[in-house]
Amino acid sequence: MDGNLRELPNMNALLEHGDFSGLARPRVKRAAQSVLSELRAALLLGTVSEIPSLDECAEMVRRELDKAETANLRGVINATGIILHTNLGRAPLGDELYSAAAQVYRGYSNLEYDLETGQRGSRYSHIESLVCELTGAEAAMVVNNNAAAVFIMLTTLASGKRVAISRGELVEIGGSFRIPEIMEQSGAQLIEVGATNKTRLADYSRAVSNGAEILLKVHTSNYEIVGFTESVSVAELAAFGHERGLPVLYDMGSCFVLDPERFGFRGGETARGGIEAGADIICFSGDKLLGSMQGGIMAGRREYIAAIKKHPLARVLRADKLTLAALETTLRLCLYPEEARERIPTLAMLFAETEELKSRATTLAERLRAACPEWTVEACAVTDETGGGSLPNVHLSGWAVALEPTGFSVQELERRLRRGRVPVIIRISGGAALISVRTLLAGEDETVAEAVRRVYEGGGA
Ligand SMILES: *Cc1c(COP(=O)(O)O)cnc(C)c1O
Repeated sequence: MDGNLRELPNMNALLEHGDFSGLARPRVKRAAQSVLSELRAALLLGTVSEIPSLDECAEMVRRELDKAETANLRGVINATGIILHTNLGRAPLGDELYSAAAQVYRGYSNLEYDLETGQRGSRYSHIESLVCELTGAEAAMVVNNNAAAVFIMLTTLASGKRVAISRGELVEIGGSFRIPEIMEQSGAQLIEVGATNKTRLADYSRAVSNGAEILLKVHTSNYEIVGFTESVSVAELAAFGHERGLPVLYDMGSCFVLDPERFGFRGGETARGGIEAGADIICFSGDKLLGSMQGGIMAGRREYIAAIKKHPLARVLRADKLTLAALETTLRLCLYPEEARERIPTLAMLFAETEELKSRATTLAERLRAACPEWTVEACAVTDETGGGSLPNVHLSGWAVALEPTGFSVQELERRLRRGRVPVIIRISGGAALISVRTLLAGEDETVAEAVRRVYEGGGA
């Protein structure tokens, strides 16, 4: 084995041999070091028994250089038909929202500067009046994400107080965000109300008799209680709370800022609905159904929002300028729902007409059939989802291209597309690889067709 190891090309020979002109020497050297040390380890372990030739080693260095040039975190194409795919970064901004935000980010901005007076301004002012206009709330502010919004809202308003919440709403949202634990961290004392499947106003009444000082409602988002159930609506809870002078807080999780019914869409609540129902503060995510950037938007009574803005945690959880810029652009679009529907990618995907999806899938299928004559390629109806725990009971009628390759399995096709130059993430169902067109952004139909063609012709995407 030792003799074997000694036959490994040395660094200088390798650098002389390969054609690495035009590449910075330190980069090539680093890649070569990595290749040689991996080879050495593989030889010692016996996973490689033959020393590769100098040519082969140089090729390995070139691949290592390619790999080093590719960022770990990068764009992928979502062909799963799940719009707010949590693992794929939830809401995509698309070119328009992204460039508006990038314009602010690329240089200096009036983030905390009032251009009228030349005095210091507030970073929240850029979106506050928009949120108020769109929701009917008196005041608003934004933090880093909705988990942070729930946390700062409870810490500011409920620390040291008894907070009543239905047992059916003590949920885990994912990624270790559990309502009971967040409440504990915030210093609020939890008073559980009702039963998991049934909570009535009388149960809240009992909680108030037992000293509850604040009422909290949490949208159950990613699950639904069906069957023998009863719950108290936010409107009923707010009316009940206000009769007794108790604040009512509502974590909506994901909600619309425009009215989806005008596009014939049923399901999902609106932020305005939460305020009109009487919640003193609502909070919701920026990158779920609003279709914007990660952020936690709070809206409601002036005095509560003012207290939250003053809390030291506001600085800890504050939203950055990229978030604020993207949110402002998104919210401005929401003033004109028809435009919002076209220009906010999440909404365009959600409200897409089934006929239009069918026609896109049919066109893509024709292209793929021409590019991959030996495979089975078929446009077919599928069920898409909103994802992100936003509307678990809403199933969307979508269209996809179903692919069945020859010579290798659909699992292998999925893997090759996922590991390609531009990763394409698909799902497998009923023995076929499905490319759902709903979640493809503008121009991506082409990119997907290219990626599939590369797999067909040469193995890799
Ligand atoms: C998603 C969600 C959260 C967390 O929001 P993030 O923006 O992911 O931090 C909190 N509460 C509810 C009800 C949710 O649905």
